[in-house]
Amino acid sequence: MFSFLNPNMRQRIELAANADSSMCWNCSSCDAECPVEIATDRLRPQRIVRFATLGLFEELITSPEIWYCLTCRRCNRVCPNLVKPETLIRYARSAAVRCGVVSYEAARAYYDLFRRFQRVRWHAVHHCLHDDDEPISDAPWYSWLDTPIPDAMDSISSQRLFNSNDLFRQAAKGADLSRCFTCGECSSACPVAGERSVFDPRFIFRMANLGLAEELLMSPSIWLCVQCGRCTEVCPQLVDGCGMIASLRELAVRDGRLDEDFALRVQNAQKQVYMRLLDEIDELFELKASFRNQAACPLTLAECA
Ligand code: SF4
Ligand code: SF4
Ligand code: SF4
Repeated sequence: MFSFLNPNMRQRIELAANADSSMCWNCSSCDAECPVEIATDRLRPQRIVRFATLGLFEELITSPEIWYCLTCRRCNRVCPNLVKPETLIRYARSAAVRCGVVSYEAARAYYDLFRRFQRVRWHAVHHCLHDDDEPISDAPWYSWLDTPIPDAMDSISSQRLFNSNDLFRQAAKGADLSRCFTCGECSSACPVAGERSVFDPRFIFRMANLGLAEELLMSPSIWLCVQCGRCTEVCPQLVDGCGMIASLRELAVRDGRLDEDFALRVQNAQKQVYMRLLDEIDELFELKASFRNQAACPLTLAECA
């Protein structure tokens, strides 16, 4: 149940978060675009914005949903009123740590968990690549979390270079990939690239420029991209990295390397691994309990916001 509706608090949150939350008209476009909501039905960016517009600071910073977010900014991009739910979520996380709702240690453990979770996603795609339709139980989930990814370059010899066909070269040309000077801006902006051996857009684009078609089209990594477009937005050379990765997926199916249901199987596998991640996050933070226990905090809620 909501603790209070507070117009002053609403203003304070708006000023501090700079997310234009008061512009929200509850269209739910952000919910429909959110990859975590699509996979799990457990993260609604619109609800987080609603907490802010009602001045519900406590509900905002104790919501487990703020920690479910990948910070991919697809919600920001799709909002017709230029509300920035992801910006609000980042503000809510830092307020949660500042107010003692979440300890620094728990926040650090969370970021480590999130980084290693990309390994789980990689192994889940690998599982699909080997035609394994078995549901993913807890045991492999935990084992994958601690299993680093084999180094992609280990198996590549110089004879493999420039081995791409016309369709591959056209896709690279369409994304202006030859302009890439490997600055790494895309990798820094990518929400998935926490562990570069698992997923690194610059590495993928470099492999594509070197014509390593077979290695790329059969790589689980190309299925980890959440198509958020941040690499394309930040590239100083105007390379369309997001479009290139979408083309690689299409080519893998079009060339017959993967069957037509592969994308669906990956989607189902990702749903299973995301659900487990959200349960882990809940266990890690025990959010509501820790908020009730922060009697030692010397600040009032208004000061905290
Ligand atoms: S930033 Fe991405 S994961 Fe987070 S709420 Fe927005 S769309 Fe969902
Ligand atoms: S930001 Fe652009 S130029 Fe820099 S590495 Fe990525 S694709 Fe290449
Ligand atoms: S679109 Fe680009 S920034 Fe977004 S997840 Fe894919 S590679 Fe990363």
